[in-house]
Amino acid sequence: MKQEFIFIGPPGSGKGTQTKMLSAEYGFPHIDTGSLLREEVASGSEEGKLANSFMEQGQLVPIELVSKIIKNRLLKDDCKNGFILDGYPRSTEQAAALDEILKEIDKDTDTVPNVFYFEVDKTKLVERLVNRRSCSVCGAIYNLKTMNLEDETKCTKCGGKLIRREDDTEEVAEKRFTTYFNQTAPLIELYEKRGWLTKLDASLPIDTIYKNLTGAIKTHVNS
Ligand SMILES: [Zn+2]
Repeated sequence: MKQEFIFIGPPGSGKGTQTKMLSAEYGFPHIDTGSLLREEVASGSEEGKLANSFMEQGQLVPIELVSKIIKNRLLKDDCKNGFILDGYPRSTEQAAALDEILKEIDKDTDTVPNVFYFEVDKTKLVERLVNRRSCSVCGAIYNLKTMNLEDETKCTKCGGKLIRREDDTEEVAEKRFTTYFNQTAPLIELYEKRGWLTKLDASLPIDTIYKNLTGAIKTHVNS
C-alpha cells in the first residue's frame, strides 16, 4: 500500500534527520521543495526556467508553478509506493494546492497521508540557533551548549576558525520563528481536524523520536 508522509516543523527541529532515517529504512524518496526547485532550474525544463525568472528577481515562485513542479515530481516512478514531503505545505493556501495534487495522483488509491508535526519550544530553538557556530574552513556545525568544546573558537576537525552567522542572533531568530509558527498554526489545526496529524515531541533523543514516529505510522495504517 502506498504511504504518503508530510513533515512539518521549523528549521532546527531535527525533522531533516528523521526524514533521512525514514527514507533510508523504507526507501521512500525525500522531497524537499527547496532542493526540488533548484533541481528543476538546473534541469533546464520549461517550469525550471520560469521558476528561475522569479528567483532571480528575489521573488517567490508562484504557488501554481510550485504545485506543478511538485505534482510532476510525485508522479515519478520512485514515488509509486510513497514519498516524504518535507517543508511543504507551509500554509493553508499551499495545503489547498496539495489537496488538488493528491486528489489527482491518488485517484486510484485510498491513501491517507501521515502528517507529522515536530513540536519544539520556541525558546529552545532560539537558544540552539544562538549557540550555533560553524567552521569557516570546512563548514562543520557546532553547538556550544551541547558540545562542550575546549576552545570555542577552533574547529576540532580542521583547526579552522569558528564563526557565528550574522543572522543567528536572538532577535532575528525570534522573529523568524514567530513568523513560522503564525503561518503553520492554521495548517496544524487543519490536519488535526482531518485526523491526519501526529505531534512528535522533537526535544526527545533522536532514536526516541524515530520510534514514536514509526510507531505512529503503524497505528495510522491499521486503523
Ligand atoms: Zn573545520
